[in-house]
Amino acid sequence: MKHLVRCFECGREVSDPFVDSCPHCSGKLTIELDLNEVKERSPKELRSRPFGVWRYAPFLPVDASKAVTLKEGGTPLYKCSSLAEKSAIKEVFVKFEGANPTGSFKDRGMTVGVSRAVELGCKVVGCASTGNTSASLAAYAAKARLDSVVLLPSGKVAMGKLAQAMFYGAKVVMVDGNFDDALRVVREMGNAGQLYILNSINPYRPEGQKTVAFEIMDQLEFEVPDRIILPVGNAANIWAVYKAFTEWRELGWIDKIPKLTGIQAAGSAPIVRAFRSGQDDFVPEDHPETIATAIRIGNPASGRKALRAIKDTDGTAIDVTDEEILKAQRMLGRMEGIGVEPASAASIAGLVKLRQMGEIDWDERVVCICTGHVLKDPDTVIKSCEAIIQAKADMESVRKAIGR
Ligand SMILES: *Cc1c(COP(=O)(O)O)cnc(C)c1O
Ligand SMILES: [Zn+2]
Repeated sequence: MKHLVRCFECGREVSDPFVDSCPHCSGKLTIELDLNEVKERSPKELRSRPFGVWRYAPFLPVDASKAVTLKEGGTPLYKCSSLAEKSAIKEVFVKFEGANPTGSFKDRGMTVGVSRAVELGCKVVGCASTGNTSASLAAYAAKARLDSVVLLPSGKVAMGKLAQAMFYGAKVVMVDGNFDDALRVVREMGNAGQLYILNSINPYRPEGQKTVAFEIMDQLEFEVPDRIILPVGNAANIWAVYKAFTEWRELGWIDKIPKLTGIQAAGSAPIVRAFRSGQDDFVPEDHPETIATAIRIGNPASGRKALRAIKDTDGTAIDVTDEEILKAQRMLGRMEGIGVEPASAASIAGLVKLRQMGEIDWDERVVCICTGHVLKDPDTVIKSCEAIIQAKADMESVRKAIGR
C-alpha cells in the first residue's frame, strides 16, 4: 500500500528508511497511508480474504504478496458472560491474543516489520524486549532466514518467552539493566548500521498491530464497541488501535471511536500519572517494578502517542496493583477458561476497578484485549496458585487428599 513516513511531532516527511526517529526534531515516526484505493469499498468486502492480519492488506504499508507470515491474527473474541455478571457490566468480550503463533499480539506487528526488513534487503534484525517481542522477532526472522539479535533486561524475563527466543535461534543477550536500558543500546546499534531495529518505535510494527481493532470490528459485525481496555507498556499497541479506528473513520466506515482505556501496573505507571495531571507528556519512571514483566517499562517509547489516543477518544488510564493483576488473571482462568499472562490480566483488573469506581457504566459494551498467553510465564502462575497435593498411589489416599 502506498504510504509515507512522517514525524509524529513536527509532521515532516522522513525519507531515510533506516532512521528510528526524526532527523530534524528526534520525534517518533508514524506512517501515513494513501487510503484512496479502499475509498469506494466497504469493510465487509475485506471478508473475501482469510480472517487474520493480511485480510487488512489495504491498511498495511508493505507488499502483501511477499509477506513473511505465520498466519498471525484471526484470534478469538470471547463473549464472557460470567465475567460480565461478576463485574456488573452488560457485555464484556475478551480478544484473546494468546492465540497468535508465538502466543502474543506482537506477531501482528512482527509479520509486517519483518516483511519490511526483507523489502529493504536487511540481513540482521534486532530488538530490545521484555520477552514477547524477542520471541516473535526470533520466529519471524527464522521464517525469513534472517539473523536476529535480542537484548533482554537481565533476570526479568518470563521463562516461556526466553525459551522461545532461544528456541527459534536468536542471539540472546542479557544486558545489566532494565528494558529502557536495553532499548537505548539496541537503538544505538540500529543507528550504527549493525541491525534493523524492530521495536515498536519502528512505525511498521504498529501498522500490523492495527489489525486487532479491525478484527474486533469484524467480529462484532462492524458495530463499534463503547470501550476497549488494554494494558500499556511501551504504549505502541494503544496507539495502533487508535490509528486503526481513525483510518476507518476517515473512510466513513465508522462514525465513532471506542473510549480507549489504558491500564498500567502501579509500580510502572508514567502514562497514568501524566493523564491524571492533564499533561501531553510524561515523566519517565526510573525504577519500574511489577510482576507483569511485559509492561515493566518506565519510559514508554510511544507514550506521547498513547496520551493523544486516550484523550482524543474520551478514554481514561488507571493503574492496578500486582495483587489485583494476579487476582484478575485467576478469575479469568477459572470463570471463563481463558489463560493469559499477568500483563494481559491488567486489562481485566482495570475493567473491574473502573466499574467499581463508576467510570464504566453498567450498559456498556466493553472489549478487553488480553495480549499474551498464560504459558508465557508459568513461574508466576505456579507461585500464585494453591499448592500441589501429594498422595500415595491409591484411591483412598487421593480421596482423602482432595477432601471427597
Ligand atoms: C508488549 C506487551 C504489552 C504492552 O504493549 P505496548 O505496546 O508496549 O504498550 C502488554 N502485554 C503483553 C503480553 C505484551 O507482550
Ligand atoms: Zn520531527
